[in-house]
Amino acid sequence: MAPTKHSAVLVASTPPKHSEYGSMLTSLKSSILNTKAKLGALRPQGQPKVTKTINNSKAITARERRKQAIERHSKVEAEQQKDSELFKPEIATVPSLASHPHPSLSAHDFEVGGTLGRGKFGRVYLARHLSTNYVCALKILSKSQCINQEEEKLIRRELEIHQNLAHKNILKFLSWFHDEEKIYLVLEYAAGGSLYSKLTKQPKGRFDERTTAQYIAQMAEALRYMHSKNIMHRDIKPENILLGFHNEIKLADFGYSVHSDSGFRSTVCGTLDYLSPEVAVMLLKPGKTREYYSKAIDQWSLGVLTYELLVGKPPFEQKSSKATQKKIANFKGNGLKFPGHVSKGAEDLIQELLNLDAEKRMSLDDVLVHAWIVRHTEKSAQSGIRSFSHMLEQAT
Ligand code: ATP
Ligand code: MG
Repeated sequence: MAPTKHSAVLVASTPPKHSEYGSMLTSLKSSILNTKAKLGALRPQGQPKVTKTINNSKAITARERRKQAIERHSKVEAEQQKDSELFKPEIATVPSLASHPHPSLSAHDFEVGGTLGRGKFGRVYLARHLSTNYVCALKILSKSQCINQEEEKLIRRELEIHQNLAHKNILKFLSWFHDEEKIYLVLEYAAGGSLYSKLTKQPKGRFDERTTAQYIAQMAEALRYMHSKNIMHRDIKPENILLGFHNEIKLADFGYSVHSDSGFRSTVCGTLDYLSPEVAVMLLKPGKTREYYSKAIDQWSLGVLTYELLVGKPPFEQKSSKATQKKIANFKGNGLKFPGHVSKGAEDLIQELLNLDAEKRMSLDDVLVHAWIVRHTEKSAQSGIRSFSHMLEQAT
């Protein structure tokens, strides 16, 4: 087959013929029940079941609409963007990256189960590596859906960046391979599902302060690690945060992440509700304002996340995308409304992270020693010690 523009993303290996691959997938899907039964046995009580698809509520549709608006703009922005001393092309990621596909893995090596979620270019499936019985997630991206060079770049960059991240609160990237039609990312399976899906299942659609503080502390750890490698995530939101077997944070989706030695970037991207004012202004008034931002955009998003986890909705949400965009861009640094149940400590942390001045925005180091975070994370350590001593007492 003549190479298409999509095949340029990848180094050619020897994939199975497409016809073989189709029938193989059909037979693998017929064993879905078998896979689910095995996972059911692995799953501790109370863990969410693997669902067919979770992206079907009205709220998600509205979010997706807002996100698409940013992506469209981002493409235009990328075309307009001129390389300068400050901005190296975004594709220039960490130079030492080994981004080659696995030499022998193929779709034949996996039993594919139910859908864990849907993404821009395909779906994420529960899967089992046949020869090792290892349960993992397969993110399958359709080459025909990444229709232009910008999208190819995004996928290539996601692979390159994710492969080089190793942290307990970051979803593990295990391997990748491809065939004529698809790209397969083999990822650690996050048994707890997405933070968004967990949030929507809470009785009042929000978490309590202790749970929120513990999630935010782990997010700060993950982001601090990424920033120490000069990588910005750029798309922090509950849908991109997954939960492990023990309810621990597993930050995922590095589709918008970027490596930047200069510490500055200029492409507008991310999800509207989570955009920082410096990026929202670039979106609203292109060419009329400062045209770059720093990794402090992730700290801003962490502030939005803290608010959403505690309140059940993001702080700048409006009925239309345009109105949300304006509300963020015109934010003067005060006047944010907090419902009565939010404590002063949490409010203080959020205000510090939602600092209009990116340079004065609270650092991730400071988030980890903030009184509200320390109080709630210390308590959990103490209760861990208490329950351990309790177990010892019972055993003796
Ligand atoms: P989007 O553009 O919507 O962010 P995407 O193509 O980048 O999508 P992901 O965000 O990586 O895709 O995955 C989509 C959804 O699939 C997630 O929100 C999550 O619900 C589910 N998912 C992804 N990876 C895993 C995993 N390793 N374990 C469990 N569920 C996962
Ligand atoms: Mg995502």
